[in-house]
Amino acid sequence: MISIHKAQHLIDYLLKQRNRGHSIGFVPTMGALHTAHISLVDRCACECDITVCSIFVNPTQFNDPSDYDKYPVTLDQDIHRLAASRATVLYAPTVSEVYPAGMSALEQYDLGYLESVMEGRFRPGHFQGVCQVMSRLLKAVDPDKLFMGQKDYQQCMVIGKLLGYLNIKTQLVTCPTQRERDGLAMSSRNTRLTPEQRGRAPLIFQVLSAIKARLVRGNLTQLRQEAINKLANSGFRVEYVEIADASTLQLLNEWDGTTPTVALVAAFLGEVRLIDNMLLNN
Ligand code: AMP
Repeated sequence: MISIHKAQHLIDYLLKQRNRGHSIGFVPTMGALHTAHISLVDRCACECDITVCSIFVNPTQFNDPSDYDKYPVTLDQDIHRLAASRATVLYAPTVSEVYPAGMSALEQYDLGYLESVMEGRFRPGHFQGVCQVMSRLLKAVDPDKLFMGQKDYQQCMVIGKLLGYLNIKTQLVTCPTQRERDGLAMSSRNTRLTPEQRGRAPLIFQVLSAIKARLVRGNLTQLRQEAINKLANSGFRVEYVEIADASTLQLLNEWDGTTPTVALVAAFLGEVRLIDNMLLNN
């Protein structure tokens, strides 16, 4: 694996690879790598000749500055982990490399409805930041395929929209959510949970599984409310539990018995915000 820190070096290196006929896959991350990140790297390496993994904690996507300050940074450990993986290139730029003109007055994207619900509603500006960083990373990498996790379901939809705006031919590959043995979705933020909170955290997976098991045609209010109550009774501060159309994310109060649906949760345990989702009938 080679490590690159400058966009122009990356562009030059990838141009050579492309001229040799090599396909390029991209796995963007914010570091604090865990098994789920490596599963994306593996999938990328299976489907592409060159696997570029980026590590960049993007300041512009943190609507809460203290979340940015507390985001776990484990770069040395990450480099070892990636070196032992199937990654070909680590791209780890600085903030000024990604935003050479500074971070004020950055471009804005019309994300429409996606910015008004769930992550868009509870994290104002978050998806603008995601698009600002991804447009810059995609410009440098120009991958054939982009590998992202279903864990961030709404983010995948935003990136699908961004790819359309950027008018590039990159194919988005959404990879399944990787879970701990007790069902908790893997996340860099899990390391910030106390042992006691970590013991309670799998309840999110349990309530999603219960929604999936009990989904029937008709009104969904009670199903959602029971999930909210279960989480609240166990000390979670719930931001949302929603059931939505899996392809548009339109929130559903009624289910027609056939539309593919997804349940999505965001809840705090202490200061740690956890998100998860589950496809219900597809
Ligand atoms: P992050 O470093 O948290 O920004 O995540 C980088 C990529 O890894 C994103 O595409 C995430 O959706 C993906 N990812 C994070 N956690 C998981 C997980 N538990 N399962 C699958 N993908 C994940």
